[in-house]
Amino acid sequence: PALFHQTLFKKQSFLKAAGPGDRSVTFPRYVNRLKEDDEACAAALKDGSIFLFHRLSPLLRRPDARTFSPAAFTCSGTEPERLVLQRLGSDGSQLKEAVLIGCSEQNQAQFCLDVGSGLCSGELDQAAVEEASQGTFIDLRKAFFLLPAAEAPLVSKGQALLRWHQTSRFCGASGQPTQRNRAGSQRFCSSSSTVYYPKVTSSVAEEVGLEIQSISYSSSQHWPFPHSSFMLGCHALVSPAHTQVSSQVIIEVV
Ligand SMILES: [Zn+2]
Repeated sequence: PALFHQTLFKKQSFLKAAGPGDRSVTFPRYVNRLKEDDEACAAALKDGSIFLFHRLSPLLRRPDARTFSPAAFTCSGTEPERLVLQRLGSDGSQLKEAVLIGCSEQNQAQFCLDVGSGLCSGELDQAAVEEASQGTFIDLRKAFFLLPAAEAPLVSKGQALLRWHQTSRFCGASGQPTQRNRAGSQRFCSSSSTVYYPKVTSSVAEEVGLEIQSISYSSSQHWPFPHSSFMLGCHALVSPAHTQVSSQVIIEVV
């Protein structure tokens, strides 16, 4: 029961975080630009935060004895951070595998990168990264109970995006390999001209470009697929100034 209450508390916090005044309403256009503009996204990576995963487990650090936090790396970071990122290829080739999660309140782009997925040629040794970064890769289900509620959605979304890329490398229609854009917000099959979008939504504003005036909780249920998910429904009122939206995008978000 204690575990359940903690989970419930954190989920209520998520709801609060997604309410009016949330940063995701302020910065969706910046994130959308990075999704559409490969060059802008590559530039944002140089100043952005990169959250590392190893086989989908996020890297956590303990700033003090009682606190866990997702370890954020920057290309211009301190010595141990640079050493870890250098192992991803001096030319930064492996960094291209990073996937855009969103951006911080300081308008700093946030990326996730799985250094142990086996997909990139420079797969890193888990223990070596942990030692260099003074962090630990922790299973996400455990991480949920260690992280402050405000930081859990970040690693959750990061993991979901990485998982989607790892399982969407081939087109379901033609069987051909798919190519991702720089932000990792879509994959494209040139053989059948099919575009695939990740089924990850943390913010309506970010995904469909609508700005929400108010949001109220409707209902929720456990959703076991693809990986112990949590589904909830909300009623949202949209700002009248921004009602232009593609119905196709809404379908993808849903
Ligand atoms: Zn195809």
